[in-house]
Amino acid sequence: MDKNWSPTANHYCLQCGHQLEWRDVDGQQVEACPSCGFVFWRNPLVATIVLIETDGGLVAGRRAIDPGYGLWCFPGGFVNEDEHPAAAAVRECQEEVKAAIEIADLLGVYHVIRGDGRGMVAIAFEARLRNGESPATGHEMLEVGTFAPGELPDLAFTTHRQALADWKRRRTATG
Ligand SMILES: [Zn+2]
Repeated sequence: MDKNWSPTANHYCLQCGHQLEWRDVDGQQVEACPSCGFVFWRNPLVATIVLIETDGGLVAGRRAIDPGYGLWCFPGGFVNEDEHPAAAAVRECQEEVKAAIEIADLLGVYHVIRGDGRGMVAIAFEARLRNGESPATGHEMLEVGTFAPGELPDLAFTTHRQALADWKRRRTATG
């Protein structure tokens, strides 16, 4: 039995306010409402990672927010509910590195369990700057830089390191 199993849960129904109870649905323990039937499904957060390739290398930013304050990462962030992940990637680049990009390819899909216990799916894209665009420091960043792939500073997140490894592997594989 799941260690979190208990007859009553910590949350209240979004629909009717009754206290939720743990219920077994297809072998998965979920919080559900005994009054109205609402089920509190827990789905992973979805985020994007954007590896923007320029003449000088890859674009990265140093974070002005937690998690990872002061550390470097690629632009990206959480996908809004009504947003295609590719559109989220374009939006995040506009916000974080103030540059219009175009998506070149899907690089990879990564899964992690975060420190707060929530699952996250990160979708990494390869991208290019649109003509005439150059990266600049946007909000949530202390500074933005372009680095040769072998000279990137340590990255804040496991998923970003995995995406970088896959990006390098692709270039090795294709010569
Ligand atoms: Zn309810």
